[in-house]
Amino acid sequence: MRQTILFIVTALFISCGGSKPQVTDSGFKAFEDRFILAFWKQNPGWASYVGFHDYDSLLVVPNAENRLAENEFCRAYLDSLKQFSGKNLTKSELTDLMMIRDQLESSIWYNDVFKSYEWNPASYNLGGAFGIMINGKYGPLDDRLRAISRKMDLVEDYYAAAKANILNPTAQHTDLAISQNQGALSVFGASLIDSVHASGLSDTEKENLFTNIELAKMAIEDYVEFLKNEIKPTLDENARDFRIGKNLFSEKFEREIVSSYSAEEIYAKALEAKSNLHREMFTLTKKMWKQYLAGTEIPSDSLVAIRMMIDKLSLVHCHRDSFMSSIEAQIPELTAFVNEHDLVFLDPEKPLVVRQEPAYMAGVAGASISAPGPYDKYGDTYYNVGTLVNYTDEQAESFLREYNKYMLQILNIHEAIPGHYAQLVYSNQSPSLVKSVFGNGAMVEGWAVYTERMMLEEGYGNNSPEMWLMYYKWNLRTTCNTILDYSIHVNGMTEEQALDLLINQAFQQEAEAKGKWRRATLSQVQLCSYFTGFTEIMDLRNEMKAKQGDAFSLKAFHEDFLSFGSAPVKYVRELMMNEEELAHSKP
Ligand code: ZN
Ligand code: ZN
Repeated sequence: MRQTILFIVTALFISCGGSKPQVTDSGFKAFEDRFILAFWKQNPGWASYVGFHDYDSLLVVPNAENRLAENEFCRAYLDSLKQFSGKNLTKSELTDLMMIRDQLESSIWYNDVFKSYEWNPASYNLGGAFGIMINGKYGPLDDRLRAISRKMDLVEDYYAAAKANILNPTAQHTDLAISQNQGALSVFGASLIDSVHASGLSDTEKENLFTNIELAKMAIEDYVEFLKNEIKPTLDENARDFRIGKNLFSEKFEREIVSSYSAEEIYAKALEAKSNLHREMFTLTKKMWKQYLAGTEIPSDSLVAIRMMIDKLSLVHCHRDSFMSSIEAQIPELTAFVNEHDLVFLDPEKPLVVRQEPAYMAGVAGASISAPGPYDKYGDTYYNVGTLVNYTDEQAESFLREYNKYMLQILNIHEAIPGHYAQLVYSNQSPSLVKSVFGNGAMVEGWAVYTERMMLEEGYGNNSPEMWLMYYKWNLRTTCNTILDYSIHVNGMTEEQALDLLINQAFQQEAEAKGKWRRATLSQVQLCSYFTGFTEIMDLRNEMKAKQGDAFSLKAFHEDFLSFGSAPVKYVRELMMNEEELAHSKP
């Protein structure tokens, strides 16, 4: 019954409204606006991160009282959501409702069940929050500095609460917290001091701010010392295991990924995909053997043969000093290919800036995109590239072979064009703020992974077997991320087994494999997002092709898919299928 009503309401708006945002008289839109404002007050750090700066000066002290208040907040809004369950919401509004509900239920689950505030000391780090305000390009400098000064009033309380929360930390998260908080200190360095001197603040304000900066640095240093001297010595074999186990993993997967598959199902799919990839890779290896390895007999073990071919191709790589400039040079080439082949509209008004990864971000990823939030429509999108400065020659060589000539192109497709960069630009234009700010990681990563395959299918790299072999290797990484994550947290996989999977079955260099092991010990579920999202987008594209036949257009599919914001693929699928049915029901 409800489905029929929805169908009629949506049909009315689509047939007369074109691409205009759909509005009903349900009052949901007004509710969403009120909810978002209240949500930002509750989560000021997140608000600054997405570019909403009204609450920049607030800092939530992570104590028990505030966790209770957060749960109260979530329960109250979950209750208000019920008033809309019987109303005539559009499909898009219904998706927003589900995403808000998912978000609120997750917050309560994290507070009451997951409780990482007790065992993950790295959840306390103010480098990012202050970094945004210090380096931000929004608003007058004086206002930002005043907000920073007020926010700093509570830094001591913040770290005092952090220390009180830590009950049973893991060794891995303790080490991460130490290095990240040490990195965070650089945020309060010379460039902040210089901008205070250059500002229009009164002498008293400046003096207060300098005092607050010193106090904030002392609080961070004190926290680092606490972790080093009081926590680390207590971490023996009885310390909490970083593995979260099957129940927490399955629940976290459901809440974070929001997939039509369960964690166990996607794990089984990944195992199957791994065998298929190995088969394709062996075919290509045999095809290229004479060209690259003439005179050497092809080994009977197909994995050994593939490895030899990959090693041979990996020797073609850039110099350690030109890693960043190689990336910079590829961006315009990728843009030209996407435009020439009519794959998706790229907004020329939104430039991509390649920069060295800021110190407070170091620790987990090697290259990443940071985009302006939905409120910062004119901000720059940064492509953060990790530096090789601290690598020995041997480490650098290993890293550069991994990111060889072919791989570097796939990395740039994934991170930049038409991967994360393009998706985030679309996401910020989505008429739904909820879908932009509660973005689903599996959809976001799935899109980036999907574009790698799509670009090669459309002829990027001239269909060369070298490019395809390296792509399969890259895709194997995504596939093995899922296998690794599930195996470590659910099946108790050891470091030795993990390195065997990554090095011998996924052909990774040692440095990369060790980095991935470290990352898998520090995070949970996130590594599954790539393969899950990719699988669901490929499913959806096949489904849409079958439905539309000759009318199917790749560009239209991409733009339509991206137009819903970063909603879970399973919700986007519902919206797209609904549109598709409407298009065919028109006279
Ligand atoms: Zn080399
Ligand atoms: Zn990614």
